[in-house]
Amino acid sequence: MMTADTFGRPLRDLRVSVTDRCNFRCVYCMPKEVFGPDFQFLPQREVLTFEEIARLTRLFVALGVEKVRLTGGEPLVRRDLHLLVEKIAAIEGVRDLTLTTNGSLLAKHAAALAAAGLRRVTVSLDSLDDGVFRAMNDVNFPVARVLEGIEAAHAAGLRPIKINMVVKRGMNEGSVVEMARRFRGTGDVLRFIEYMDVGNSNGWRMDDVVPAAEIVRSIGEVFPLEPLEANYAGEVAQRYRYRDGAGEIGVIASVTQPFCRACTRARLSAEGRLYTCLFATHGHDLKVLLRGGASDDEIAQELRGIWQRRSDRYSELRTSATPGAPKVEMSHIGG
Ligand code: SF4
Repeated sequence: MMTADTFGRPLRDLRVSVTDRCNFRCVYCMPKEVFGPDFQFLPQREVLTFEEIARLTRLFVALGVEKVRLTGGEPLVRRDLHLLVEKIAAIEGVRDLTLTTNGSLLAKHAAALAAAGLRRVTVSLDSLDDGVFRAMNDVNFPVARVLEGIEAAHAAGLRPIKINMVVKRGMNEGSVVEMARRFRGTGDVLRFIEYMDVGNSNGWRMDDVVPAAEIVRSIGEVFPLEPLEANYAGEVAQRYRYRDGAGEIGVIASVTQPFCRACTRARLSAEGRLYTCLFATHGHDLKVLLRGGASDDEIAQELRGIWQRRSDRYSELRTSATPGAPKVEMSHIGG
């Protein structure tokens, strides 16, 4: 089944945030000044159970979703996540089941996640320079332990791995070529993400954005690149291959080259709100239906209606004045 929005974009990808909590305080996502010791995270009773998430996922799949990504916050801080992976992997029609993690707990959980049915994993890693990395995660977490997590994921058969690096001017643009050098030839795919005005807390300025073109140029001067076709319509990253055959990289240019026209992503927050854009200002409460005794048909009708009315294209409309709008925090719905 295909469910399309007002621009004809099909509902195909579901990103499920299983927790709003994280053990990092990345400066571009969850700055310590805002997400400090007194920050009120979701109380347990407000968070969807694995059964509720699986039920919603099954209904989304019936509407056309094929790819499910588990996110957070940091999804691996939620206990027994492999039990949820098992439930979602068992849903007929889920063609791709993946997880986005900061890698800090991956060494501990990779084997169980793979055994439960996880197909792939994306690891966020913003620098190989330990000092730069510790400054960006802002909890003094060492890069070596994330690299251990990546090795554990390889050993568990989660290959190839995607590595996401957010590039912020003045913090880690000097790490770009080093990251390319480290991951080329490994089969893993390194993707560079333009720093975005997600949420309301990271103090975003256009001056701190390193445009994708500049990132590609800086790598290409050392390791010549050429563009590649997208793997599928709606793929977020623009692909480039190393001319010498050492693999590929991707750039995610939401700020300088928006891709809203092909955006097929819905986002479910940990407390059961449906967001139709990463930069949304409100979400649709599904928990009230789940816990209010609504039938599968009633919930499916609600999901269909929300998507069919969807007209989001924030990145195309972004202007320097836009950042003031009260948007949902990225840590609340996953990237
Ligand atoms: S800004 Fe919103 S509509 Fe545009 S690509 Fe991102 S999530 Fe999709």
